[in-house]
This record gives sequence, structure tokens and C-alpha cells, in this order.
Amino acid sequence: MRILITNDDGYLAPGLAALVAAMQGRGQIEVIAPEQNASGTSNALTLSRPLQVFSAGAAHPGLRFVNGTPSDCVHVALTGLLGYRPDLVLSGINQGANMGDDTLYSGTVAAAMEGFLFGIPAIAFSQVHKGWVELDAAARVARAVVDQVLAPGLPTLPFLLNVNIPNRADAEALPRRITHLGRRHASEPVIQQTNPRGEPIYWIGPAGDAREAGAGTDFHATANGCVSITPLQVDLTDHARLPDWRARLESGA
Ligand code: MN
Repeated sequence: MRILITNDDGYLAPGLAALVAAMQGRGQIEVIAPEQNASGTSNALTLSRPLQVFSAGAAHPGLRFVNGTPSDCVHVALTGLLGYRPDLVLSGINQGANMGDDTLYSGTVAAAMEGFLFGIPAIAFSQVHKGWVELDAAARVARAVVDQVLAPGLPTLPFLLNVNIPNRADAEALPRRITHLGRRHASEPVIQQTNPRGEPIYWIGPAGDAREAGAGTDFHATANGCVSITPLQVDLTDHARLPDWRARLESGA
């Protein structure tokens, strides 16, 4: 078993170290993570400049970082750097939830998705709340999920799982729920300030609260003391409305 591990909080983030430690003994592990915190970069690839890969040095054996995005890390690894095809891509453990609409913006989910796009099974892990509280418990959940996914052998088709873990010391004992994505309200308003030159500047506001958080959603599961596991796919096509759009726009062309 060869496992590629990355994240979006940067190569020095405690969540990455915890995930790497939890996977020891599970196979040959390669860690390639972004140099900077790249949260919210989604599936971005760096096309305007070359990328470099650096060793993190003796204090972090086996750890390499890339001056790019989470997707850059996985892309470079899979298309040449590693020289082999890993069996599994893991991303995280992220500082903060990636539920509902978050998954569209998340670099954590995107890094796993990059593996999935190359046909490799991938799992993204996030803690529901920021602050790294009970991170070791989350790492034990990650290990248990990986072990259970792998036994008795990988599912035949590639998959992409999005796991959100409550920040609890007993996280490993919590029920796991297979969920679908909820929805959030629109983001909080942008925060306008003035820079030292008197010009307006804008901070993107925080994510909105959960809007669709009913039974079966990731929001509902984690709010009710469960680990949420959402199987994701990439096809954004609105299949249900294809006939409507055909009727409206194909005729008369
Ligand atoms: Mn992050």
C-alpha cells in the first residue's frame, strides 16, 4: 500500500502531522503539502509560474512541500514526481469543517479530488471546529476509516470520501453516518476597510450558517454527535433538468 498524504493548511499544520502519524504502519507514506496555508483555493492549479519541491529538512523527515496549491501538490506528485501511482490519496486533517457548499471552495477536498480525477481512491478529513481541539482523536478516526475502507481490499472503483469529525475526545467511538451534502446560507457580507493609502479594501466574510441541515446531511450528522462521511462525485451536470433545457434551447437553433 502506497499512500500520498497532503493538506491545504500547509506543510507545518498540526493536522497534517497527526494524519501522517496515524497512518504509520499502513504502508509506504509520501507527504507532499503546500508551503503556505492554501485554504479556500479549491481545485486551482498554478499555471503562471513553475513550481518547486523542497525538503522540509531533518526536523521533518520524509516531508516535502511545494510552493503551490493543494491540487498542485497532488498533480505534480502523480504526473512525475513520485514515479509511481499511489494506491490512496489522503488529505487533511483540515482545521475546520468542509461540509455542504464548503466542498466547492475547500483545498482539502480538492487535493483528494485531484487524486480521484486520476482514478485513485481518495479521502479528505476535516475537524468540524477550528483550533485543533482533540486532534489526536480525529487522527484515530481517520486511521479507523482508512483501515475499514481498505479491508478486505480496496473497492474496485475509485472513490472520493469527505469525512468530517467532531472535535471530541471520544470521536473514535462516535457513530459514523453516510451523508449527503447540506447547504449553507450565502456567505456573511464582505468586510470593507480602508488601507493606509485611504483606498477601500475588502475581506471575504465568513461562511454562512447551515441552511439545509436536515436528517441525512453532513451538518445534521456532526451536530448530532456523529462522524459524517459523504461520498462525492465530480459531475456537476444538472441531469434532472437536461430535458427542460433541450426543449428550451435546442429547438430553433
Ligand atoms: Mn484548510
